[in-house]
Amino acid sequence: MTSDHNTAYLAEQLDELREQGLYNTIPTIESAMDGRITIDGREVLNFCANNYLGLANHPRLKRAAKDAIDRYGIGPGAVRTIAGTMTLHDQLEERLARFKGAEATVTLQSGFTANLATIPALVGKGDAIFSDALNHASIIDGCRLSRAKIIPYAHNDVDDLRRKIAESDGQYGRRLIVTDGVFSMDGDIAPLPELHEVAREHGILLMVDDAHGEGVLGRGGRGIVDHFGLHGKVDIEVGTMSKAFGVMGGIVAGNKTLIDWIKQRGRPFLFSSAMTVPDVAACLEAVEMLEESGDLVERLWANGDMMKRELSAMGFDIGHSTTPIIPLMLGEAHTARQFSRELMARGVFAMAIAFPTVPRGMARIRVMNTAAHSQADLEEALDAFKRTGEALGVI
Ligand SMILES: *Cc1c(COP(=O)(O)O)cnc(C)c1O
Repeated sequence: MTSDHNTAYLAEQLDELREQGLYNTIPTIESAMDGRITIDGREVLNFCANNYLGLANHPRLKRAAKDAIDRYGIGPGAVRTIAGTMTLHDQLEERLARFKGAEATVTLQSGFTANLATIPALVGKGDAIFSDALNHASIIDGCRLSRAKIIPYAHNDVDDLRRKIAESDGQYGRRLIVTDGVFSMDGDIAPLPELHEVAREHGILLMVDDAHGEGVLGRGGRGIVDHFGLHGKVDIEVGTMSKAFGVMGGIVAGNKTLIDWIKQRGRPFLFSSAMTVPDVAACLEAVEMLEESGDLVERLWANGDMMKRELSAMGFDIGHSTTPIIPLMLGEAHTARQFSRELMARGVFAMAIAFPTVPRGMARIRVMNTAAHSQADLEEALDAFKRTGEALGVI
């Protein structure tokens, strides 16, 4: 029996994906991640990355990472509970707590593992989780790993949440409400003050995953809790340093008890090594930069607002985003894919997103704005959007 024979069922499933147009072809980027990138030897404007503040290739972060490598090396060597923690990790966690106005934080390898560390540490069998229907895959996986009952509520629908809570009254032990902060496919924001109200009334834990709000929302990018002035009221705030921070790493922020507990029981904390030295040093520099100045965050929002205004004036349907993410609603998947290909031919890289990532008939081009784009970049991109829209007859 050859190993090809054993994996034949996978080859069949891959063929099926190709037939359905659902096979992911991953473009290779030959340059640093930035406002302009090189693909197939050609420079294009990049509207795909979550590199909101343009920090992924910033000289200050690169310098900080290099200096830290000279002093502390590269890897942490083992998980922190076994080999000990490094000064840098402690510094980053203290710094993040101060920046976000939280009592304490703990860092994980990624935003994904931050959710896997947190949710199963808080609730288990016999408990219930009320989860927004559009929550991110890593929240869903964290919920599944916990073995608590998962009760989805309609997206951003606080009345539906109240109904689901009432229906389940008395049937479960501990309860948790969990939501994305910014929903990345539409760019809308969770109604956190109302969710807090519901959580407080019923004595339910409240958790927000602010992956797309970290470095974007709030004063100087301090995140969704700061945006709504809910300091000390949201029990758990998860975040990532892989998006606006331009690096890699997950954050959990909350009170000291919660953070202490995750260090005792969060499995990706206990059984997977910590962030690497250059990652931590670069993240420290990112926090430093955000504390020094709100310029990058302001530029991000100004760029997003300008693009929204102009795309809307051209006649595009731009959905109902309240963040710098712009979904260009195109309907059918093949239209969105053709739009993306033609944009690329005009020097603009913006990804088509279709079923199953978004509902059928709601395919779109997702325009990810960043502070790394100049005014000239935006004008060039808008020209390409206009020509493509006209060529395809969607505007
Ligand atoms: C991107 C994202 C994550 C994963 O973050 P990584 O640091 O890239 O692992 C988790 N949650 C949400 C809501 C996200 O958008």
